[in-house]
Amino acid sequence: MRLVLVGPPGAGKGTQAEFIAAHLAVPKISTGDIFRANVSQGTPLGVEAKRYMDAGQLVPDEVTINMVRDRLAEPDASDGFLLDGFPRTVPQASALDKLLADLGTALDIVMELVVDDDEVIRRLSGRRTCRGCGKIWHVEFDPTSKDNICDRCGSELFQRDDDKAETIANRLVEYADKTAPLVDFYGAQGKLVGIDATGPVEDVTVRAIDALRSYGG
Ligand code: AMP
Repeated sequence: MRLVLVGPPGAGKGTQAEFIAAHLAVPKISTGDIFRANVSQGTPLGVEAKRYMDAGQLVPDEVTINMVRDRLAEPDASDGFLLDGFPRTVPQASALDKLLADLGTALDIVMELVVDDDEVIRRLSGRRTCRGCGKIWHVEFDPTSKDNICDRCGSELFQRDDDKAETIANRLVEYADKTAPLVDFYGAQGKLVGIDATGPVEDVTVRAIDALRSYGG
């Protein structure tokens, strides 16, 4: 199955993508993760992407599309994939359609995780990441027993630059301007399935998997 997950930053795309990809036995391809890996390795792509990421802006389409084209050409993606965080603009969505058409295939479903702005702000501003093992905590919903220290590995926690208040505001504006139009784009193709992404993580996963079942997933 070829699936795209869309939703505002903080909708829980990364978390749900893990579960859904495991359920479907397809690779999870997250453009945010690929950019972050490039940033931490200091590659030219990472250096370019970081400027945009730290400002809460989208990396330019051309750079992002080329990166996804290369990733989808890898053998593990030939029978299906779950894209998390891509496409994020209408030109990216059109490029993806074309890229898949050239391979003789197409997307099956686009799942939208629906959450309102207030909830997004609460979720993102409280998010903390461990410097050691990368585990994500939340000051309110999933706190560590000692402030700012990871319960799993004892390392210090930090706040991702793009989870800081001013950057969150920019990310939400970017989402409304550039990504929300994808809902109409895929709605017109009859591929859009909306899921209520509020409440406990497990409940959202159950909703997502139930919705996929009705599409044969
Ligand atoms: P994410 O982890 O998906 O929230 O992505 C983190 C950041 O990476 C975003 O705020 C963007 O700067 C960049 N990014 C990720 N995916 C895309 C994309 N499809 N198009 C442009 N920029 C992206």
